[in-house]
Formats: sequence, C-alpha cells, structure tokens
Amino acid sequence: MRIQVTLTEQLQDYIADVSLSEPPVLRELREETSRLDQRNMQIPPEQGQFLSVLLRAIGAKRTLEVGVFTGYSLLSTALTLPEDGRVTACDISEEWAGVARRYCARAGVEHKVDFRIGDARQSVAALAEEEGAAGSFDFIFLDADKEGYETYYEHGLTLLRPGGLLVADNVLWSGRVIDESVQDDETRALRAFNAKLAKDERIHLSMLPFADGLTFAVKR
Ligand code: SAH
Ligand code: CA
Repeated sequence: MRIQVTLTEQLQDYIADVSLSEPPVLRELREETSRLDQRNMQIPPEQGQFLSVLLRAIGAKRTLEVGVFTGYSLLSTALTLPEDGRVTACDISEEWAGVARRYCARAGVEHKVDFRIGDARQSVAALAEEEGAAGSFDFIFLDADKEGYETYYEHGLTLLRPGGLLVADNVLWSGRVIDESVQDDETRALRAFNAKLAKDERIHLSMLPFADGLTFAVKR
C-alpha cells in the first residue's frame, strides 16, 4: 500500500454509511442536475462535504469559486460560510448559473453569493484589481475550464491572504494526465499546471487521489 486502500464499492458504501450527510437542498439540486447531460461535471456529495469541513477548519469568510455549473459546490460553500461570509462565484454560463442562483435563494443564502457571469479569465483578473481584494481571500476553488487553471491560479495567488488555501479540482483527469496517448488541450493544460505547482516556491503543496484528484496549495 502506497498512499491509499483500494476503494471498492463496498468500502465507498461504508464511508457513506458512517460519514456522509447531505443537506436536503443539496440533494434536491443533485436530483435536478441528474437530468442534465452534463451531470458528471458536478462534484460528488462526499467532496462537497469535505470542502465544507475544510472551510470550517480554516474559518473561511471570503472565498472564490471559479466554475459553478448548477451550483453544488457553491451552495455547499454558501451554506457553510458564516452570515458575514461571501463567496464570489464565476461562470461563463448564464443558464447554469441561473440554476445555482435559484437554489441559493431557495436555501436562503443568496446574500452570501456574488455572481460574476462571463469568461472567468476576465472576471478573476478584474476581481484581483478591485480595491481591497488582493490578499483578502481565505479560500479559492478552481473547477472551470482546465486551460484556464494557470491564469486563475496566478490571480488566485494575488487574491489569497498568506496562509490562504487554493483547491484545484480534476487534477488527475480520470488518469489521463499519465496517458501520453491523450494530447487534447485540457489534458495537456492539466499536466502543465501540475508540473508548474510541483516546483512553485510560493506555495505549500499536496495532491490527493480523492474524487478526480484534488490539489491543495497554501500560499506562503
Ligand atoms: N463546481 C461545479 C462544477 C463546475 S463544472 C459543481 O460543483 O457542480 C465547470 C464549469 O466551468 C461549467 O459550469 C462551465 O460553464 C464553467 N466554465 C467553463 N469555461 C469557463 C470560463 N472560461 N469561464 C468561466 N466559467 C467557465
Ligand atoms: Ca470538477
């Protein structure tokens, strides 16, 4: 055994039995999203719960999410943040963000969410230029287009406070990152992103084989 036990179906069920709890509004959002062709883009409930525990552990108040889709990770975040917490939420799709907005309103947490609709390359760059934004974020979750990760990460490092945490999703890309026969733009971008962070001295780094691979970067 190197870094983890083999995750059988039975063991996944056991983990769910003894630890998983999903607020009803998140379950409803998951059910609605399951009718979409793109449903696999949604993070699994175990990951939502894990990110929520992380947010509590670091006492996050100001967070950024890049890649909202129908809002599972966003709603989980907004439900977790304290009353005076704020999550800035970037997505290019008005339609999907509309679903996220509707669920945040239903859950009574829309006042904690600041939506920025458009290409996140611009939204995140603009955010980094805003008065008081640099160095003020506790937590950033990257989950939009993989070609954009490097740009989001660079602005993210500007936005994070020292000790702040950036989490990047899908860094193992179903294992395609080590399959050299796969050479599409997203896979190549993830390889370059992973290689860049491995030698980036501005952060403390950890990568976990959880869900589709998660990278954790704490700003020094
Ligand atoms: N975190 C979400 C899943 C995100 S899926 C969840 O928990 O369900 C990826 C999202 O990135 C999609 O909604 C897509 O519209 C968005 N996206 C893709 N390219 C983008 C870009 N250039 N700028 C902003 N959002 C983008
Ligand atoms: Ca993802």
